[in-house]
Parts: sequence; C-alpha cells; structure tokens
Amino acid sequence: MPEPLSPIPSLLKPLKLEQKKKFTNLAVTGGLDRYARRCLEALAKLYGPQSPEGLWLERARADFGQYLALTLAEREALVAETLQKLEAWPALPQAAPPKAEVRQTQSLAPFIPAEKARAFQRTGLKTLRDLLAYTPKWVLHRSLFTPLAQCTGREEPYFILARINGISQTRRGPRETLKVALEDGTGTLIWTWFNRPYLRKELSNGRWVVLHASPEVSRWGKQVVGQADTFEFLSEDDKQVLEKGGLLPLYPTTPTLTQDFWQGLFAKALGPALESLPDTRLEADLGKALGAREAFRALHRPESLEAFEAARHRLAFEEYLVLQAYLMLKKREMSQRRKGRAYVFGGEKILAFRKSIPFELTGAQKKVLKEIREDLAKPYPMNRLLQGDVGSGKTLVAAISFLYAADSGLQSALMAPTEILAQQHFDTFRKLLKPLGLQTVLLTGGLKAKEKRQALEALAAGRAQVAVGTHALLEKDVAFKNLGFVVIDERHKFGVLQRAALEEKGRWPDSLMMTATPFPRALVLTDYGDTDLSILDEFPKGRKPIQTHWRSEAKKEEVYQFVKARVLKGEQVFWVFPVVEESKSFLKSATQMYQYFSQDVFHGFRVGLLHGRMKKEQKQAVMADFAAKKIQILVSTTVVEVGVDVANATVMVVEHAERFGLAQLHQLRGRVGRGSAASTCFLLTSPLMSADALKRVKIMTTTTDGFKLSEFDLKLRGPGEILGLAQSGRREGGLVDLRRDGALVERARETAGRWIEADPRLEAPDHAFLKAALKSRYDFQLASIS
Ligand code: ADP
Ligand code: MG
Repeated sequence: MPEPLSPIPSLLKPLKLEQKKKFTNLAVTGGLDRYARRCLEALAKLYGPQSPEGLWLERARADFGQYLALTLAEREALVAETLQKLEAWPALPQAAPPKAEVRQTQSLAPFIPAEKARAFQRTGLKTLRDLLAYTPKWVLHRSLFTPLAQCTGREEPYFILARINGISQTRRGPRETLKVALEDGTGTLIWTWFNRPYLRKELSNGRWVVLHASPEVSRWGKQVVGQADTFEFLSEDDKQVLEKGGLLPLYPTTPTLTQDFWQGLFAKALGPALESLPDTRLEADLGKALGAREAFRALHRPESLEAFEAARHRLAFEEYLVLQAYLMLKKREMSQRRKGRAYVFGGEKILAFRKSIPFELTGAQKKVLKEIREDLAKPYPMNRLLQGDVGSGKTLVAAISFLYAADSGLQSALMAPTEILAQQHFDTFRKLLKPLGLQTVLLTGGLKAKEKRQALEALAAGRAQVAVGTHALLEKDVAFKNLGFVVIDERHKFGVLQRAALEEKGRWPDSLMMTATPFPRALVLTDYGDTDLSILDEFPKGRKPIQTHWRSEAKKEEVYQFVKARVLKGEQVFWVFPVVEESKSFLKSATQMYQYFSQDVFHGFRVGLLHGRMKKEQKQAVMADFAAKKIQILVSTTVVEVGVDVANATVMVVEHAERFGLAQLHQLRGRVGRGSAASTCFLLTSPLMSADALKRVKIMTTTTDGFKLSEFDLKLRGPGEILGLAQSGRREGGLVDLRRDGALVERARETAGRWIEADPRLEAPDHAFLKAALKSRYDFQLASIS
C-alpha cells in the first residue's frame, strides 16, 4: 500500500518506470494498473467525490481500470497525462486546513477496533465530520411497514418486517439458488438469492429481516429476488425499539461492517463529532433556523420521521449550495478569459453547405445552432453540453459548427470513445465536408505509421481543417496549427482529464460536448453545472416510432420468422448478445450464436459477426459490408452500442436483455429507426431475471423517449451508476439524493446565484461559512475568492 498521505510521490516513480518499460504494465509487481488505481483511490479520498479533484482522480482511476484494454498509444497518453497532472499537483488538502475546519478533521481512527480498520478504510471516512455525513439508509418506524398480506402489485417497494422460517439451497451447474421462506403472521414470501453462498451463514430460522422490495405474485405465491441494499437483519434489541414505537436508523452495511458495528460507532462517536462541528446556520435561506449540529443530531437520532427529513434537507441543501457556488464562481472565472478570435458566420463554406444538404434542419437543430453562434461570438470560450436523444441529429450540428470554424480560419477536432464510432464520424464528415474543399483526417490508435504521419503533417501545417479520432488525438505528437473548436462525442465516456488534454491543444478552444444520455436536470445541474445546456428535442421528419416487443426465449421461433420476412424485403438486422465467447456462465455468446445462425437458423442468408476482440481492420470490413448491404444479419456484441448509423437496418434483436441497463438498451435500440421504414426491436429474456430487470424491459416496451427512460433509471438505480460514479463511493440515498432532490438543487442554485451576484467575493459575514467550505474543498481552483 502507498503511504496514506503520500500517494503522489509513490505513484510518480512507477509511472516513469512504466514509460521506460514501454507500457507493458510491468513497472510494479502485481501490475501498474492495480497499483495506480490504489494510489489514485487513496488520493481521491482526501478530496471527496464531489470535488473536481476527486472527480478527476476517479476518472483517472477508472481509466487505469481499463489499462489492459488500451492500445499502447492510449496507455502512453494516459500515463503521460497522469504524470503531467500529478507533477503539477497543488499541496494536499491536509496541508493547511482553514481555521474554521481544523477541529472537524479530528480523526475517527481511535473509535475503530483494530480488526475492522482495513474494512473501514475502504469506506473513505476519515474524520469525525465525515462520519456525521454517513447518513442512515433508512429510518424505520413501525408505521412504515406493510403486512405481507397487503403487499401486492405496486412498483414502489414496500417495507416488510418478517421472520425466517425455512431455508433451502440447490445447485444446478454454475448456479446456486438459495430460497428463504419469510412470514410475518399475515402472509408468506419466498426470498430467492442466486450465487450468494456467503449469505447462507447469516440465515437462521427465527431471525428477523427488514426487506425493502416489491414482491411479485406468481402462481407459487409472493416472491422477491434478493438484491444487495434491499434488506437488513434486525437484532432482538432493534425489534424491541420498533415494537415500542421508537425510530430505528439503519446504516448501509458490508459483511464486515455490520449494523451492530455502525450502531456501536455512532453510540461512541456521535457526541464528540457534534462537538467538533462549528454550528453554522442557514436561517437566511431556509426560513427555519436549524443549526448544523442540531441537524446532524436529528439525522442520526431523529425524534420523528419529519425531523429526520427536515434535517436531511437542511444538510443536503448546504452541500448543494457549496457545489453550486463553486460551479458558478468557476464559470464566472472562465468568462473572464479572452480567447482572442472572431468567428465568421455567413462564410462561403456554410452557404455552400446549406445548398448541398437534401433536407431541412429540424427546428431544434436551428435553435441549437443559434445558441452555438451566440456563444462563439462571445469573447470567452464556449462550454456547452449538447444533449440529444439517439438519432436526433447531433452529428450534423457538429458538422455545421466545424464550418463556422473553417470559414473563420480555425481547425476543429472531434473525439469519440471507440474506433468504430471515430471511423464512422470520419466517413460522415469526409462525405459532407470534402465537396466544400475541407480536408478531414482520422487519428486512431490502429493507424499505419504512414497514414498517421500524413495526418499529423496535415494538421500541423493547417492543410487539414478537421481531425476526427479516439484518445489517439491526445498523443503528444498531435499538434494543430490553429485549433479553435473541439467536440467531444459521448462526453460521459471520457474523463475530465481527457477533455482538458484535448482542449490544451488549442488556445482556450470553444467546446461542445455531446451526449445521448439524457441526464435529468438535477444531475445536469450538479455534474455539469458550469456548463450551458442545449437540447435537441425534435427528431428529423419522417421517422416512424420503433415498435418494441418483449419475448421470452420460448417464443424465439416467432422472432426468427419475423426476421426472415424482413430480410427478404431487403431490410437489415442487428442481433446483439452480451458476451463474445462462451464462458462458464450460461449466457449465449455472439460467436457461438453466429455459428448456429449461419449454419442452421438463417442458413442461406448472409450473416456477419462483429465484436470488440476482432482486429481493427476486421471490424472495419464487417461494418463496411453491413453498410453496403452485403451482410443481412449482423450478430454482434455491444460494440454497436453507440453511434452506429445504418439507415437500412430496421430490426434490432437483443438477447439476454435482462443483462443490459436501460441506457444501454436505449442506445442499442437507437441503432434502428434511422431511416423512413418502420423499425422493430425485440428484447429476448431468459427466465432468470431480477425484478429490476423486469421493470427495465417492461418500460422499454412502453416508451422510446430517452428522457422518460432516464428519469425512470434515476428512480431505479440512482444517478451514480448512470454516470459511472458508482465506484466513486458517492453513496446514493445518503445525505444527497438526486433521485429526490431536484427541487432542492434548483433552490440551492438560485440561492448561490443570488449570493454571488450581491457579494462576488463572499465577504459578508452571512456568507463566511460558504467561503470557508469553498476554500477548504476547492481552494486552488478559485482565484476570485482567495
Ligand atoms: P445522433 O448522433 O444524434 O444520434 P445523427 O447525427 O447520427 O444522430 O443523425 C441520425 C440520422 O439522421 C443521420 O443519418 C443523419 O444524416 C440524419 N439527419 C440528421 N439531421 C437531419 C435532418 N434535419 N433531416 C433529416 N435527416 C437528418
Ligand atoms: Mg451520434
């Protein structure tokens, strides 16, 4: 393990060694990737997942998680950027905590028994103040429970309090099934777990369990498929508290850090923790004078459910306020920059282009382009997120923006997350822009040396106006003559660091980030709060809605017939599987099914295969054959997930749909319905499916609206997983809960705006606590308040 407080020095050396070892992952025994991840994680914990440093570190850590999957060039870029950033890293936050916060940094260590220390370290909680924010996941009162007999047919979960009275364990192949019978005096429930052998030892007849779940009613009675975080075991004492009408806070647990552990820890440490807290008040904006201490006490020792909720609101509001204030100040500072270039909007290229496209821009495309023009005309750089559902025409917006840049003598770059996508964008842009006399170059990891050299020369000399590529664009030898406009496609697939690295190739270029993941507004405001937002909320004319059907495996014959009929009409089909090759799991794989389809079911049809482990040239050839209609049925993995655009494809079949997340299903479905013919999507599921998977598949059949799906996803999973923050330790349902806090975020934003407007340096006494919090978390990022 790296020294807890010196992860930077302990990482610099191995990174340099890795460069010497030519990115073979050999710099450290056990692998540089794992080592770097550990160091970055340790470092991230010093900052907390909400801070920009924390975010950056988390992304970098995630990038190292993929290290082995990166090309050598990508590894080189990642190591170089990480080194560069860490070498310039400012002092660690412990170095000089502002006075008001000193006492809060009191360590928690003395309260943790030695045998739990390791497990506890993983929670990221270090100080007494951190512990205060460790919010109960539930506060229970007997009035919250629903008798089993009455738990029927509701989407939202019930709280159920029941006792174990029977356990059975069966094994079939790789799958182990644990069935637990529960009863509560009014009814019974079967609680089923797959492959959780460690749970077995926790289960004993007579033990009380709290379940937060929505049972399904089947012909075998009520049942629930078990999932982490949806249950807690109760001790006899806890049970008594509930019976007496008391309130029981339950904390998130792990196998080592049990409910008893947390209860014990709070019993000992809550008092000292509250005492160490400066008692800030927020009366000015909450109407109610609830001091921080009082609020934290009510969070852990609530007197009523209402008091708990009020306290959480008060504390979450403060969190959001700090974050929003930070984002606003940062945005203000950004607006002080002078990019020093002027754009031309009525240039010859844009005029020629308008005449050349065979369709009208949608109203939404026109609106967004106007927003972009207004931003470009400003003296400071644009920082805009373009959110548009799959198929809404984002690429065209990017292309037109490139023309503004080109007419103004500036180069543009577009970075996409995968080679397939980069290649496809490249083809699109080349087709659109070449007739106008623009040169577009492609830069990906797999280029031949000569192609690469030519592309680099064209960019450096300014002969090429547009560069399209993957992370390969970030390599050191990629230099532009005059980069003015940057587009990042599928923004959430990139780290903060990667975005910055691309922007550094120009002088404060204007940035447009594109995403098809329609983040709900609360999330945009928190994670992209310093960003302006444009929305493409209209589809090109003539699109027909995609019909989505859910079929169990047993009905696959029907799907085969449907597909054959469509193919005979000249249409094309995507057929997606969750895994490439057969593995120990019972999942069907793309390669195996490709064999079966081409030799058996679809014998005589032209079937193709595409997956991520194929060589770049192979992948390209397959995609080209599919685009040229030489392949009728394309069996694939999720490599087709983003961006692939073949208008003649009208059928999407997703097998094991229960294995995919909603965003992924939506992306996959978005590969069809791009032309004027009516399209169909089949979601095939195997019988082994969790309640959540069932909900996902069901909602997919009822709507094609990405925004509705993402709101639903937010309810189902919480924002962390959606944005890939799940690993970051930002726990959902804690103090801050974006699923429920939409209005609170808005209010915090509005308040922060008002305060900063009136007092930009936050000098008023009422704003002192905000300034202190900002300085302790974001010090070196904010010049304007220091
Ligand atoms: P996105 O990237 O938002 O998923 P694309 O930019 O790939 O969507 O556009 C989807 C398809 O719609 C492309 O084939 C594109 O050529 C076409 N398209 C874009 N804008 C229009 C428009 N205004 N009218 C008709 N077709 C359009
Ligand atoms: Mg796209």
